[in-house]
Amino acid sequence: MTTPQTHPVYVIGGGPGGLAVAATLREQGVRAVVLEKSDAVGASWRRHYDRLRLHTTRRLSALPGLKIPRSFGRWVARADVVRYLEKYAEVHDLEIVTGVEVTRIEREEARARAGGDGDPGAGGRKRSRKRPDADADGHWVLHATGGRRLVGSAVVVATGYNHTPRVPDWPGLDAYAGTPGREFVHASAYRDPRPYEGRDVLVVGVGNTGAEIAADLAEGGAARVRLAVRTAPYIVRRSTAGWPSQRTGILVRRLPAGLVDRATGLLGRFITADLSAYGLPRPEGGLYSRVRQGAIPVQDVGLVAAVRAGKVEPVAAVTSFDGDGVVLADGSRITPDAVVAATGYERALEPLLGHLGVLDERGRPVARGARCPDGVPGLYFTGFTNPISGMFREMALDAERIARRIARQRAR
Ligand SMILES: Cc1cc2nc3c(=O)[nH]c(=O)nc-3n(C[C@H](O)[C@H](O)[C@H](O)COP(=O)(O)OP(=O)(O)OC[C@H]3O[C@@H](n4cnc5c(N)ncnc54)[C@H](O)[C@@H]3O)c2cc1C
Repeated sequence: MTTPQTHPVYVIGGGPGGLAVAATLREQGVRAVVLEKSDAVGASWRRHYDRLRLHTTRRLSALPGLKIPRSFGRWVARADVVRYLEKYAEVHDLEIVTGVEVTRIEREEARARAGGDGDPGAGGRKRSRKRPDADADGHWVLHATGGRRLVGSAVVVATGYNHTPRVPDWPGLDAYAGTPGREFVHASAYRDPRPYEGRDVLVVGVGNTGAEIAADLAEGGAARVRLAVRTAPYIVRRSTAGWPSQRTGILVRRLPAGLVDRATGLLGRFITADLSAYGLPRPEGGLYSRVRQGAIPVQDVGLVAAVRAGKVEPVAAVTSFDGDGVVLADGSRITPDAVVAATGYERALEPLLGHLGVLDERGRPVARGARCPDGVPGLYFTGFTNPISGMFREMALDAERIARRIARQRAR
């Protein structure tokens, strides 16, 4: 008889977070099936812009059970991240079903359950049967593309912090984007600077992505690059005298924010760049307090030099679009040929599990790692924080915690 204990654990998402959990579950002897909506693992890394490298070190970005090859260098290139993830799935012999998008998950109490642990590869629905003798704890039902209905003993949601591109609701945007000779893209669609050669480009947003794309455009032959800044960021060196800023992030992670703010304030010019003379104001608030509010410092991979050389010009935030132009917060109107919006992403978890009451007011899961949301056993999340210590590293740690917890639950 199939008991709930023999239902697999479903892991939604075949990015680094999901793969790490599947591998550690397997290590613990628990069957895990990864459901990935695209046609291969590491989908987000296949799509990122070409020049991207991990800004966390190779050593501190490895997932459980497989080192990142030394030959990939200290700062691993995007294409090598993809290679690593492919190898990771292969080495751990992970059970991955691609082309399956999970659209909704539901907790079903055992006594009301209709049976059938549909094979995700098989496509259609399986014949269902009432199972009045099933466990008191219940289980999870996943609804997925192709009419699939899959039953799992637990679910790990690893659908990504950067799930759906976010574009602010700017007045006039549609008219600008529809004007001949004008172009508007979200940063998720940016690959390389070639299409922008000789053109006047405005990059909106100075997170890590906006900062790097602006530098890429400036180095890649755009005629003019402006960078619209709403909130001035801390810009830190990727490493100082060989010491990666990620290591500092790991060391200070559990310290009081005020203490770290004071220390980074004192170290000031050694670890952060001051571009106030070039139109980018000094950031307000302490570095670590800002991190706690979700504003990760920008790692400098070319922006500082580009701004100092006048190749990237900081300008005020975008407030609206006006015909073929863009209106900025200081009242000026500029007419770039193209706008690249590096304005972030949504978690977009609401359709999947908003009805379960497990998301906070910003749409983020209320629990992470080995902890399930209160009253919702068997539902785990990984990859929904943006820690200063590096997300690959945190996902690796969370994977071990989640796998240990699930294995313990099963052993009971
Ligand atoms: C530009 C950029 C650079 C980054 N650089 C670093 C870095 O240097 N170091 C670091 O530690 N972190 C970095 N990160 C942060 C983070 O490590 C990565 O975003 C990482 O890919 C997150 O892994 P993940 O598995 O949580 O999500 P993702 O890699 O986004 O994977 C999620 C997967 O889930 C799939 N999926 C989504 N919804 C569904 C669904 N409903 N059903 C089935 N499948 C679904 C997607 O297709 C995708 O394959 C970076 C992020 C970005 C955006």
